[in-house]
Amino acid sequence: MPAKTLDDMFFDGVKDIYYAERQIVKALKKMSRGAKDQALKAAFDKHLQETEGQVERLLEIFELLGKPARGKTCPAIDGILEEGSEILEEFKDSDALDAGLLAAAQAVEHYEIARYGTLKAWALQLGKPDIANILTVTLIEETKTDEALTQLANAAVNSKGKPKAA
Ligand code: FE
Ligand code: FE
Ligand code: FE
Repeated sequence: MPAKTLDDMFFDGVKDIYYAERQIVKALKKMSRGAKDQALKAAFDKHLQETEGQVERLLEIFELLGKPARGKTCPAIDGILEEGSEILEEFKDSDALDAGLLAAAQAVEHYEIARYGTLKAWALQLGKPDIANILTVTLIEETKTDEALTQLANAAVNSKGKPKAA
């Protein structure tokens, strides 16, 4: 078997994020149902729509690569989403639930930003600027989502979870 190359690593990365995005679609639906703050719920719903578009973009990339669209299990996203599920379960009756869901969502965005940033750089390195452009569109969405979540956290969500002053 020939030694693996950066091309192989890039393709594995695309499969990894394709798996991850499809898990994230399911998770965002659950997180939206769990969120109590209406602005947080709206942010999850908005990003759910975007994430469905991101899956489509990845299908486009598989097509440009001339490869079948197939996911590769991403243990990192499985773990991050598992933590989110734990928060939903363990804090379901708590005023701090929203702060926990928001934090869980930011962990997801940060993973995605790391991955898309790398994949974009590798695509450029490998002479695939068309694919790099598609990845950039998604990378910007993930970054904006992360920023919007930070704003929500600062605006209201975190303070609602604090114990009432005596
Ligand atoms: Fe995404
Ligand atoms: Fe992964
Ligand atoms: Fe995202």
